[in-house]
Amino acid sequence: MNLTEPQAGSDVGAMRTRATRDGDRYRIKGQKIFITYGEHDLTPNIVHMVLARSPDGPPGTAGLSLYLVPKFLVNADGGLGARNDLRAVSLEHKLGIHASPTCVMAYGDNEGAIGFLVGEENRGMECMFTMMNNARLQVGLQGLAIAERAYQQARDFARARVQGRPVTATGPGAFPILHHPDVRRMLASMKARIAAMRALIYYTAATIDRAHHHPDAAAPTKFQTRADLLIPVVKAWCTDQGVAIASLGIQVHGGMGFI
Ligand SMILES: Cc1cc2nc3c(=O)[nH]c(=O)nc-3n(C[C@H](O)[C@H](O)[C@H](O)COP(=O)(O)OP(=O)(O)OC[C@H]3O[C@@H](n4cnc5c(N)ncnc54)[C@H](O)[C@@H]3O)c2cc1C
Repeated sequence: MNLTEPQAGSDVGAMRTRATRDGDRYRIKGQKIFITYGEHDLTPNIVHMVLARSPDGPPGTAGLSLYLVPKFLVNADGGLGARNDLRAVSLEHKLGIHASPTCVMAYGDNEGAIGFLVGEENRGMECMFTMMNNARLQVGLQGLAIAERAYQQARDFARARVQGRPVTATGPGAFPILHHPDVRRMLASMKARIAAMRALIYYTAATIDRAHHHPDAAAPTKFQTRADLLIPVVKAWCTDQGVAIASLGIQVHGGMGFI
């Protein structure tokens, strides 16, 4: 997915990459940044979905269209043809996610990269959101996964690490930290919030299934509207919780567990 440009991050409408008509195809010129897997050698070809300004489109997001721009053009027999006019000019240096190349992409340094319109002109945002909504749901799910793993590790550590005596202890000796009320509070808070995240994600997934497969003719619109509302909530809330719950998990580990 190629949306981001140096001046166009959250403000997608500030995009400058342009498409011009060339017969039944388009020529794409511009620079994209932060493109995940913009270049790699895991597959023989790479199909870029590029958001760009339509030839006669209005300003802002209303003038954006989606173009399919392959790294290698495809011959009539389905084999790989000439290299398209696009290349990765550099890789971003990140704090993490090093196995995922984040590329700066240059389109049309020469005659213009050949692109094919996806859907209708000026409806590029709608087309892109088909993929972005799927990605948002997956990102929310990653928030849940990280939270669940943080909880499992914190719980196991709290069972094993022996330190101090809880206020309610009657017998002699030290106890696992799991018995301290504040540690229990942290673990219970993590567990409860994870259950809520899981419920929200299942509910959203079921809503999407109903939007696609419900037998009642009026139902798809109703369920799609609900899914459209829930998907950004899954993405934003579950990732916020993932960070907050991982932070609590580190707190349960103390210095000994952290090291
Ligand atoms: C690892 C990685 C991979 C990526 N992969 C891709 C990819 O494959 N394809 C692609 O197209 N892009 C990709 N991106 C880019 C990503 O989509 C952008 O980073 C994102 O859109 C935000 O843009 P920005 O970084 O310019 O932040 P900015 O827009 O500069 O935002 C900075 C901060 O200001 C806030 N903010 C901005 N505008 C508003 C507003 N109107 N109201 C309230 N708050 C606001 C933001 O929420 C954020 O907290 C990737 C980024 C990263 C880090």
